[in-house]
Amino acid sequence: MKVYVFADLEGVAGVCKFFQTREEGPPLDAARELLTRECSACVDGLVDAGVEEIYVRDSHGRPYNFVPELMHPAARHIVGASGAHKPILSECNAVILLGFHAMADTPDGVLCHTQSSRRGNKFWYNGRESGEIAQQALIAGHFDIPVIMVTGDDATCREARDFLGEGPVTVSTKTGLNREGAVMHAPALARQRIREGAKEAVARADECEPYKIDLPIKGRLWYPSKATADWRPIHLGTRVDDFTIEATFETALDILQF
Ligand SMILES: [Zn+2]
Repeated sequence: MKVYVFADLEGVAGVCKFFQTREEGPPLDAARELLTRECSACVDGLVDAGVEEIYVRDSHGRPYNFVPELMHPAARHIVGASGAHKPILSECNAVILLGFHAMADTPDGVLCHTQSSRRGNKFWYNGRESGEIAQQALIAGHFDIPVIMVTGDDATCREARDFLGEGPVTVSTKTGLNREGAVMHAPALARQRIREGAKEAVARADECEPYKIDLPIKGRLWYPSKATADWRPIHLGTRVDDFTIEATFETALDILQF
């Protein structure tokens, strides 16, 4: 079995402020260590379950956040890549979303956003507002790969169940009080649960379906201000009003190409 882990930073235990996720310096360095240790805990669980090949992809911001010395030696980690990782993903049997966060404007979503935490943009596919959990699940689903585990705050776990059903294991790392406040689990406890969760997720993988929606996909990207929408170059699709771009995607692989 080959497992592919998408690793984001906002959902990691110990992280609840945007300055921990954006600005170079000691807070981001500490968050990178927490992230890499959670990834390694996940890899421990996958090794416990007998997984032979494990890839961990840095999916946060400028994607070179891992502390290499802390990465589990059983994992191959992918950094600095954008679309170039997809051939590796396409060969995998299961996906894990680690350290994820809820979609933009989720009331109890710690550091919630969809793609851009500064611009406040939102995405819809076939009329359903979708966050990054659904986006990555759709891309995995294009290759017929199911998501088998999602970790992050309680809102992330709830959103994962809303979109993916009860098949995937969810592991909560914190409970949101507001966008930058949380009741936090200790990182050591979160890592223990992530390790156990990853092992259970492999055992339950048969209960998880690839996430797919009808093709072609009607996509909508909305900005809360005209100035922000004006700033964004349109790669694909049509600007339908001051705030909104719409596009039709032939496959789920293209959904982030607006
Ligand atoms: Zn992120």
